[in-house]
Amino acid sequence: MSHELDGDRAFLDSIIKVADEIARPHADSVDRDARFPSESLAALRAERALSAGIGSELGGGGVSLSAIARACFELGRRCGSTAMVFAMHHIQVATISRHAADSPWLEQYLAAVAADQRLVASVTTELGTGGDMGRSIAPLTTAGDGTSCTFEKQAPVISYGAQADDLFVTLRRSPDAEQNDQVVAVVQNGQFTLEQTGTWDPLGMRGTCSPGFVVRGQIVPEQALSAPFAQIMAESMHPITHILWSHLWLGIATDAFDRARAFVRAATKGKSDDAPPPVAVRLSHLMSELSLLRAAVDSGLAEFVEASAQPGREQLLTMTSTLRFNNLKIATSEQAPRVCQGAMGVCGIMGFKNDSPFSVGRHLRDTMSASLMIANERIHQTNASLLLIAKDV
Ligand SMILES: Cc1cc2nc3c(=O)[nH]c(=O)nc-3n(C[C@H](O)[C@H](O)[C@H](O)COP(=O)(O)OP(=O)(O)OC[C@H]3O[C@@H](n4cnc5c(N)ncnc54)[C@H](O)[C@@H]3O)c2cc1C
Repeated sequence: MSHELDGDRAFLDSIIKVADEIARPHADSVDRDARFPSESLAALRAERALSAGIGSELGGGGVSLSAIARACFELGRRCGSTAMVFAMHHIQVATISRHAADSPWLEQYLAAVAADQRLVASVTTELGTGGDMGRSIAPLTTAGDGTSCTFEKQAPVISYGAQADDLFVTLRRSPDAEQNDQVVAVVQNGQFTLEQTGTWDPLGMRGTCSPGFVVRGQIVPEQALSAPFAQIMAESMHPITHILWSHLWLGIATDAFDRARAFVRAATKGKSDDAPPPVAVRLSHLMSELSLLRAAVDSGLAEFVEASAQPGREQLLTMTSTLRFNNLKIATSEQAPRVCQGAMGVCGIMGFKNDSPFSVGRHLRDTMSASLMIANERIHQTNASLLLIAKDV
């Protein structure tokens, strides 16, 4: 994987240590019991990994987004749920960091995330709009004197809502605003209440602990990011989400491939036939599927890094860019479970069983969530409209 800066190495070494020593041994119990990966999060906090992407002037680690993406990959190889919690937290933190300039409140907030290793959850999905990120129903209501705002949002899915310190919430700008006139606000512990409305016993990504809640909050106006929502989405939330998610899905698929390879090596050990057995040839087919996934993930990150470095990040504001990162999401969310299913085909019953060293059931189930996390059909509909009007694709 490219784009790794020398300064990111120590961070990645610490992530790999946590992934190997903590996330991997607890992954099966996190999955079986649908419980929050608390051991992994404690270890990540101890390594100050929750503020790795925040600038060093605010007390963070100052590592690159490429290193955060690589960390999602490494965690995904050991525990998909830990990787998803880590990725979602860093999507919010990176978005706030990229749009905090000129906001003393947001800069102080980022310093607090670094000092206290605060965990930030995402509240975007809403009853009535589903996974449509471009619309909100719940409004932010500003009090008459303009000093405080309140909201109440019906959120059918909030990952680690009960474990998070703070929330990142999308809302309608005001009670009079259209549904597509949105803001995004940072809401701190003590400023919100959560009323749980559902349970969490899903097929995969069980450790993300993502039931529904009614969220009620009271904030000051400075807690809403001042940049236009469309700009925040295009420059940060949308591409970073798909880059970090695709890295962790690649991590899960890579571990499934590694297990299939270990199975084939064990099955052929001591056999001296000249020609590789059919199962080894099947592994080779699987490797080419994994290579496609890896190439898509790598090139998406490379293009984002390059576009982010340009003055004004203007490339990220184009329809071409929206199509680009939408397609990264669609391609990787479909390819990751395909690789995991291929790994199960290679391992056979040993991959199907939960209690075998070659088990890939968790991998397959975890990656099956990928196409739902902002439904691919919804993304195709956006793409279809853009394809009719975009100049370059
Ligand atoms: C593991 C996991 C963790 C999550 N964590 C969070 C979180 O922390 N915070 C959060 O806010 N959300 C979270 N979500 C929610 C997620 O990101 C999606 O927004 C949510 O799953 C969408 O709900 P839905 O399936 O009802 O989607 P909808 O988008 O409402 O879609 C419902 C159905 O309609 C179909 N559909 C929708 N639009 C179209 C269209 N235009 N054309 C054809 N078919 C269409 C879809 O394919 C789907 O079958 C999480 C989801 C998962 C799986």
